[in-house]
Amino acid sequence: MKFLTEYRNPELVKHYLSEIEKTATKPWNIMEICGGQTHSLVKNGLLELLPKNVRMIHGPGCPVCVTPISLVDKAIELMEKNAILCSFGDMVRVPGSKKSLLQAKADGGDLRILYSPLEAVKIAEQNPEKEVVFFAVGFETTAPSNALSVVHAQKLGLKNFSLLVSHVLVPPAMEAILSDEFCNIDAFLGAGHVCTIMGTSEYFPLAEKYKIPIVISGFEPADLLEAIYHAVVQLEKGEHKVENCYTRLVKDEGNPAAKNVVNEIFEVGEQEWRGIGKIPESGLVFREKYGDYDAFRKFNIKTENIVEENRCIAGDILKGIKKPFECPEFGKSCNPGNPLGAPMVSSEGACAAYYHYS
Ligand code: SF4
Repeated sequence: MKFLTEYRNPELVKHYLSEIEKTATKPWNIMEICGGQTHSLVKNGLLELLPKNVRMIHGPGCPVCVTPISLVDKAIELMEKNAILCSFGDMVRVPGSKKSLLQAKADGGDLRILYSPLEAVKIAEQNPEKEVVFFAVGFETTAPSNALSVVHAQKLGLKNFSLLVSHVLVPPAMEAILSDEFCNIDAFLGAGHVCTIMGTSEYFPLAEKYKIPIVISGFEPADLLEAIYHAVVQLEKGEHKVENCYTRLVKDEGNPAAKNVVNEIFEVGEQEWRGIGKIPESGLVFREKYGDYDAFRKFNIKTENIVEENRCIAGDILKGIKKPFECPEFGKSCNPGNPLGAPMVSSEGACAAYYHYS
């Protein structure tokens, strides 16, 4: 397959591994932000193949893992009040404080698992007597299609469609990690798909302020190793540049059409991250003029502080402080069949990656 198999080429992988080994003279901690990249690193055995002094730290880039627990509870409450709740599949097994969306469905709730928010618009059109709420979770990558669903619902004049939004933004999360007094990250791998939408400009002030290399990477083994190699080269030279190693998709300006539709519907606001807490200006919230489509306003939803299952150390996992196997519950009382926390459920969660592949 073009643009895929060539980035899994074993010779290319060996070449980058050998270059990293030759270049890295000191210990370096490199954080990959995105959970998709974490899965690729673990699944392809790259963590074992990298030299011991190049340590990968897994970041908070799993949108499902950072969605507040109280929001899962509120989504369930909407189902219990007879709304049709629509969601992507990766959210449905994430534990809320009492149950998951899937368990709520088993209890009689109307949960629809969809591939696109536009399908939810269609469901709202077909069910005018019911409220239809799409659980809009994700990073910059899913925001454009969610924003577009509002544009479509407005064009159709739908009054029974809304989004329960938990949109998080990558650069503020990176800044929160970097400003933590215990931060030991030397370089970042930027998430290629986020930059495909947002472009590269938001990374320059971060690289400059924290004197840290940021290398934008794809997801295949050779993509990741190429980006790690570039990060190591910068670190060894004492540089802190933004570099784009995912040029087959990422343009400096990103995707202007996608950014325009997001900016039309949403604005930047404070966001709570599960396991991390509130980060200012780190999420997307509805603009006032689209408030009719905001489930928070429509159903007067207030998020609450809910204490997590106290055996789960997801916060430390998401901040890169601990690795999944350092959690005493990993693979014992917590496993994909019986998850105690979101990182064990999600297809991008670090605990799930280690459980399945490590
Ligand atoms: S292994 Fe389970 S309990 Fe431990 S941090 Fe991961 S999700 Fe939480």
